[in-house]
Amino acid sequence: MTDGERKVGVFICHCGGNISDVVDVNALREFAAKQAGVVAATDFRFMCSNQGQAQLQETIKEKGLDGVVVACCTPKMYEDMFRETAKDAGMNPYLLEIANVREQCAYAHRSQPEKATEKAKALVGAQVAKVLRLRALEVKIAPIHEGVAVIGAGIAGIHAAILLGNAGHKVTLIEKSPTIGGNMARFDKTFPTMDCAMCTLSPKMNQVFNHKNVELLTYAEVTNAVRTPGKFTLTVRKKPRYVTDDCIGCNRCTERCPVSTPKSPVKVESEWNMGLDLRKAIYLPFSQALPQLWTIDADHCFYFQRNRACRMCANVCPADAIDFSMQPEEVKVEVGAVVVATGYRPFDATQVAHYGFGTYPDVYHGLQIERLLSSTGPTGGKLVKKDGTPPTSVGIIHCVGSRDEKYRPYCSRVCCMYSLKYAHLIRERTGARVYNFYMDMRANGKGYEEFYQRVASEQVGFVRGKPARVTDVATSPEEQGKLMIVVEDTLAGVTLRVPVDMVVLSTAMEPGDVDGLLASLHLDKTADGFVKEYHPKINPTDTAVKGVFVAGCAQGPKDITDTIAQAGAAAMSAATFLGSGEMTLNPLVAEVNPDLCRACDRCTDACEFDAVHIDPQGLVAVVDETSCEGCGKCTVVCPTGAITVRQFTKPQIVASIDALAPKAVAP
Ligand SMILES: Cc1cc2nc3c(=O)[nH]c(=O)nc-3n(C[C@H](O)[C@H](O)[C@H](O)COP(=O)(O)OP(=O)(O)OC[C@H]3O[C@@H](n4cnc5c(N)ncnc54)[C@H](O)[C@@H]3O)c2cc1C
Ligand code: SF4
Ligand code: SF4
Repeated sequence: MTDGERKVGVFICHCGGNISDVVDVNALREFAAKQAGVVAATDFRFMCSNQGQAQLQETIKEKGLDGVVVACCTPKMYEDMFRETAKDAGMNPYLLEIANVREQCAYAHRSQPEKATEKAKALVGAQVAKVLRLRALEVKIAPIHEGVAVIGAGIAGIHAAILLGNAGHKVTLIEKSPTIGGNMARFDKTFPTMDCAMCTLSPKMNQVFNHKNVELLTYAEVTNAVRTPGKFTLTVRKKPRYVTDDCIGCNRCTERCPVSTPKSPVKVESEWNMGLDLRKAIYLPFSQALPQLWTIDADHCFYFQRNRACRMCANVCPADAIDFSMQPEEVKVEVGAVVVATGYRPFDATQVAHYGFGTYPDVYHGLQIERLLSSTGPTGGKLVKKDGTPPTSVGIIHCVGSRDEKYRPYCSRVCCMYSLKYAHLIRERTGARVYNFYMDMRANGKGYEEFYQRVASEQVGFVRGKPARVTDVATSPEEQGKLMIVVEDTLAGVTLRVPVDMVVLSTAMEPGDVDGLLASLHLDKTADGFVKEYHPKINPTDTAVKGVFVAGCAQGPKDITDTIAQAGAAAMSAATFLGSGEMTLNPLVAEVNPDLCRACDRCTDACEFDAVHIDPQGLVAVVDETSCEGCGKCTVVCPTGAITVRQFTKPQIVASIDALAPKAVAP
């Protein structure tokens, strides 16, 4: 198509003033109308509204448009929608481009309206020049495979799996630890209602465990994911438990296992109790764990580590359930959609050395306090110091690792609230004096402010200030044997030394160790390290990879209420996607001109997504269109220009630059 043959329409959105308060839309429309190929130029208050889209369709039909530029907000928001609208009006959707005159003009140059308008003209001109050279692309459809994999069985993954199973989808729930439940299973009570955590979680654990549509793979991790049109093939590695399903849960093996006994040279810290006590080499993480299957930790078991020196568990097991010959198993899981629900882990408090975690025995982090307060914890729910006596005073330091440029700049959103939970429980159970050291109190969920007021009325102390350090160096007789929290009270303007018996560090929530998983699913992370959602506001459960959704704290720190809400939304999105039965494949990917390709292999080396291969005859490069992300790296290294990304060919890019260059405005 050459200039003059294509009929282009330009549609300028006011965005209710967001654009038109800065950019002169009349001048922009007049400019657009004069561009070669443009047969219609119009502006509208909200192009994304029903009326705006109706106008787009009417103009396409009336003027016979075969090219459209919408000057509006970022293409991330509405490009798909406008393309769909154009398609419904009979136009090839890939002949439509967005000129982002909101973020790149109105927002970026708010104080310079004239320059913003000039830049908007340049962007519209460049997109018109590009549209004149676009090629109509074929839209390919692929059927979506049935079934969904949910990765991570904390409260988010469990809730999503139940909803998807209830909707009739086959669900594979994959959990890396020996039991489902996630971090919530460690809690005694949950804010703000202070109801028993396991009383709400345990029924859901049982429901998912017994769900006819849910297959559970525990002690299992996804080691690879391959995407083909409409299908994900996950390779799941199931670690051997060395205990068979014959286990009857009698616990005799654990009682007799010599590991972690007082005389044993090998001691293993309990992950479940966050290192506060020891566990045996054969163990059940906690009494309500599901499945109720014991597991041998081969890294600490004398059978494996000491040349079969011990077979005690096998000798005492009445069910003959010990099988030392078990091997890791690889399972292929084929599904149409994936929900990532891998949660969070607590920030490593040893990094903030001046708070004494790991140095002073009575400095704990949040999840450790959960275990100390829990009736299933190492002290049976009694809050005691390492010497076994109850504390008479406790200091709770907020924002440890969070809101700190050195560690995690973001707010972990739940630390103020769980600090209040501990203040309440400690006052209630020990009568100890409790001080909260906070930067700002953030209590902005339903019932949270009321909970804050309730705790404040329970004679809990609040000091506004970030403590400088925790020290056991006494400067007076009253400080002897105490931990001193040194802090500037920023409200009173005085420096305090507050003596306490126990310190609780309200540590940040940070993403787990999921880089490998995210890489194999081609998922990005946001600056905070959590999974990047498609759009933080209007699409927080989708990701940029079609068919992959995110739920719970895998997307960012949140409380249980928000986790449940987001998991429900992710399940709904996944069910809708699966229910549609087919998906449109993105045609904006690389393609090879076989006449120019010399099979030099440079593109295959450059591609991060393993999407280009040389054909078996060794003659030409071939693109796997479902793996290609259209990033264009291959096009840069190709010596002959044989590989290009559709709608980003050299003539198209050069035409845009030519249109831009004479009008470019300095930022
Ligand atoms: C100290 C503390 C106290 C809290 N108290 C409260 C409270 O009282 N009330 C409240 O509303 N909120 C509270 N929260 C927040 C609450 O913990 C979270 O909202 C909730 O646990 C998030 O659930 P999740 O399923 O997203 O993540 P998680 O509970 O972290 O579960 C994630 C699951 O995924 C698994 N997993 C991780 N990686 C993989 C992988 N690669 N493959 C397979 N499985 C994987 C993990 O083993 C885990 O089972 C608290 C948080 C903290 C830190
Ligand atoms: S493995 Fe054997 S001994 Fe251990 S709990 Fe199961 S049945 Fe009992
Ligand atoms: S064989 Fe291993 S798990 Fe079994 S009792 Fe001996 S040390 Fe414990």
